[in-house]
Amino acid sequence: MQIVDRTAVSFHYTLTDAEGHVLDSSSGGEPLSYLHGVGNIVPGLETALTGRSAGDSLKVVVSPEEGYGMPNPMLVQLVPRMAFQGVDKLEVGMAFQSQTPQGPMSVAITGINGDEITVDGNHPLAGKTLHFAVDITDVREATVEECLHGHVHGAGGHHH
Ligand code: ZN
Repeated sequence: MQIVDRTAVSFHYTLTDAEGHVLDSSSGGEPLSYLHGVGNIVPGLETALTGRSAGDSLKVVVSPEEGYGMPNPMLVQLVPRMAFQGVDKLEVGMAFQSQTPQGPMSVAITGINGDEITVDGNHPLAGKTLHFAVDITDVREATVEECLHGHVHGAGGHHH
């Protein structure tokens, strides 16, 4: 069957950047499963998968606008080292959960200058062009429960 809204899709993928460095991959593990048509995956990839079927392989180039968006400079902030009390050693690349008025947000340390720590709340892939190589392994009709929850259950999906 073809990928349309309310299908549960499983696929293996390798994500690389413009230079061919592997950023993420499902190879060696379970394929990723998602509910099509509700924004479970980045818009550019979801669009490219529409109408495809199990067994199809495709390469998809996704612009930042159709991927994780452009970095928002407002999400880059300087915070004093004392804000990280209880952390023994701060290093660039460390990620933390930060409580904000909008809810918990994942931030990463991107710079350390003495007692001034730069943290970035942007998605690590914001601003990047994404190169996906995709092998679609399964397409089935989603269950009513999955449609209500907005995600796929079982292998590669949500386990409640
Ligand atoms: Zn669920």
